[in-house]
Amino acid sequence: MKRKQPNDVYTLADLRNWSDATGSFKPPIRLAVIGDPIAHSLSPSMQNAALQDSQIDQQYTRLHIKADELDETLALIRKNEFVGVNVTLPHKQHAFELMDQCDQQATDIGAVNTIAVQNQKLIGFNTDGIGFARAIREEFSVDLKDLRVLVIGAGGVARAIAFECGKQGCERLVIANRTRERAADLAKQLQKFFVGPKVLGPVSRLQGIGLSESELRGQIPHTDLLVNATSLGLERSDPLPIGTHVLEPHLMIYDTVYLPRRSPLLLAAEESGARAANGLSMLLHQGARAFEIWFDREAPIAAMRSALQRAIV
Ligand code: NAP
Repeated sequence: MKRKQPNDVYTLADLRNWSDATGSFKPPIRLAVIGDPIAHSLSPSMQNAALQDSQIDQQYTRLHIKADELDETLALIRKNEFVGVNVTLPHKQHAFELMDQCDQQATDIGAVNTIAVQNQKLIGFNTDGIGFARAIREEFSVDLKDLRVLVIGAGGVARAIAFECGKQGCERLVIANRTRERAADLAKQLQKFFVGPKVLGPVSRLQGIGLSESELRGQIPHTDLLVNATSLGLERSDPLPIGTHVLEPHLMIYDTVYLPRRSPLLLAAEESGARAANGLSMLLHQGARAFEIWFDREAPIAAMRSALQRAIV
């Protein structure tokens, strides 16, 4: 059988015999992204470019790990001298439970997307929120604290975004979700960030609502930034998370979906005259923050961005 190369997909069986599988590689594999599916992850392109640009003699690979394999996988990550890993679907919540320690973001959200191995301990982080904040600054030249934000979705990514909005003191936050109770629950957890009378006026600073057209339409005049944090848009046949005729030109629209690059929501935004950006910048900045955590140095953003752009075409 042909020997695997660092840019192939590895499995739990490989991790069990890691020095046989990868011991001869130079530079050695010390980082990976764990998920299922994982073959199309863009993280290896971005992180290997960062390692090369920073002259760090390590490589980053993919690990295809099923839900019931995570416990053993993380034990082997600890044992096989990994510097760290990224964690993606469906493992983010389960990984949180397996950490020795977590940062405040991961604790708030109840999910990790980045793990650092320090003195044989697994330290969990969540870099999605900060990645989102940096992406908004880059795309629209504004800070979250100055914005009235409407987040559609209440799953893992929406939670990271909503907590970041709360922490950065955004003017107003509305969470709109298909399952209304999840939006209301999330809003409840964020109450401590929205106690001050920052915005004077008839609308409350924090709300959890459903996805009906009338509810969404009522929010648009009081919204600057609209974020799609649902999985709608991954498939071309998906309906829009919000009707085109509800969108208005004053909005900034951020779609966390980055493939396809011109998602249906981005096309609708263009049609309505609103400014819009896709989730590639969030992917870049959450990855850059992970790099900073692992190596305690600035991430080479330009090299990472070029690698992502090359990988996505
Ligand atoms: P998740 O936890 O599974 O949450 C999915 C969300 O989508 C929930 O709010 C769900 O609503 C909603 N939803 C699903 N199908 C829907 C439908 N037919 N109509 C209306 N709402 C629907 O997923 P996640 O981890 O938060 O990921 C969400 C998306 O974020 C991913 O698909 C991905 O595109 C994007 N993402 C981007 C980045 C980045 O760096 N740019 C990173 C990770 C993920 P219910 O609560 O009602 O089920």
